[in-house]
Amino acid sequence: MATILDGNSIASQIKDEVAAQVKELASQNIRPGLAALLVGEDPASEIYVRNKVRACEQLGVFSEKISPPASSTTEQVLAIIDGLNQREDIDGILVQLPLPPHVDSKRVLLAVCPEKDVDGFHPVNVGNLSTQRPGLTPCTPSGIMEILRRSGIEISGRAAVVLGRSDIVGKPIAMMLMNANATVTVCHSRTVDLPAYTSSADILVAAIGKAAIVKPEMIKPGAAVIDVGINRLMDKNKVQEYFRDDPKRQEEFAAKGSTLIGDVHPRAVEVAGAITPVPGGVGPLTIAMLMANTVKAARLRRGLAVQ
Ligand code: NDP
Repeated sequence: MATILDGNSIASQIKDEVAAQVKELASQNIRPGLAALLVGEDPASEIYVRNKVRACEQLGVFSEKISPPASSTTEQVLAIIDGLNQREDIDGILVQLPLPPHVDSKRVLLAVCPEKDVDGFHPVNVGNLSTQRPGLTPCTPSGIMEILRRSGIEISGRAAVVLGRSDIVGKPIAMMLMNANATVTVCHSRTVDLPAYTSSADILVAAIGKAAIVKPEMIKPGAAVIDVGINRLMDKNKVQEYFRDDPKRQEEFAAKGSTLIGDVHPRAVEVAGAITPVPGGVGPLTIAMLMANTVKAARLRRGLAVQ
C-alpha cells in the first residue's frame, strides 16, 4: 500500500515557516502585502479569494480585496492593476481567474508587474523559470515540488511523466522537474497510448481534470503519484465503483449528493509507492505557496536574500 502524502501537514509546515519570516520582516518594519483582484461575483472565485485573504490574516500578511463589478471593462481592470503596481504597500497582485469573458485576460495578466506577479504567470517569470533565474513561480507546481522534496522522493535521474500541458500546472511542473534533473515526458489529449508513458513513470503527475482517468494498471509499481485533478463526482454508480471500499465517501455522497475525486483512480494506492489524496493532497499547498510567494516578492523587491 502506498504512503499517503499528507498535503495538509506539509502546507501547515510551510505556513509556519512563512509566519516566522513575516515576524522577522516585521522587526525591520516591513509587512508583506497581497492584493486580491476579483472582478464580478463568481461564487467559487469568492470562496477562493476568501480563503486566500484568511490565510493572509493567519500569517500576518496585509491583504486587500478589490472587487470591481462584472461589468468592468478591460481598460478599467488595467487601471486598477496599474494603481496596484505603483503601491509601495503591495508586494503581490493576485488576479482571480476566470475574468468575465469580455475582459481580455491575457492583457490583464501581462499588465501585472513581474516583481509582484505572485501567481508566476507573467511571461517574464515563465522565462525566469525556464532559464533557472530567480523569480516567482506558479503556486500549484511549486507546491508539488515541496511535496516531493519534503517527502524525500528522489527526483534527479528519475523518469517523470506529466499528464497535462496547461500554462498553470502541466508546463511549469514539467519545467521544474527538468530543472531538478528528472527526465521528463509531457502527455496531453493528443498523446497516443497514454498507458505506455504512465507505466514507465517513477514520478507521475496527473493534471488533466478527468475523474479517475489514471487506472491502477497504468501505474508503475512503487511510483510516486501526484494527483492534481479536482473533479466533482455526482453519479451514484461511479461513486460506488470508485469508492466501493470506502464507506465514509459513500456516506459523504449520500449526505451531499457529490464528492471530490482526482484524476487518479482511488485503487491506485494498491500499486503506487506514494500518492497524494484528493482532497488533502496538492490543494492545500496552492494557498501555502501563494503566501510563500508574497513574502518572497516582498524580499526580492527590497533586495533581501530569499530564504
Ligand atoms: P486544463 O484544462 O487547462 O488542462 C488540462 C490538460 O489535460 C490539457 O493539457 C489537456 O490536453 C490534457 N488532457 C485532457 N484530456 C486528456 C486525456 N484524455 N488524456 C491526456 N491528456 C488530456 O486544466 P488545468 O491544468 O488548469 O487543471 C488540471 C486539473 O487540475 C483540473 O482538475 C483542475 O481543477 C486541477 N487543479 C488543481 C489545483 C489545485 O490546487 N489542486 C490548481 C489548478 C488546477 P490538451 O492541451 O491537448 O487540451
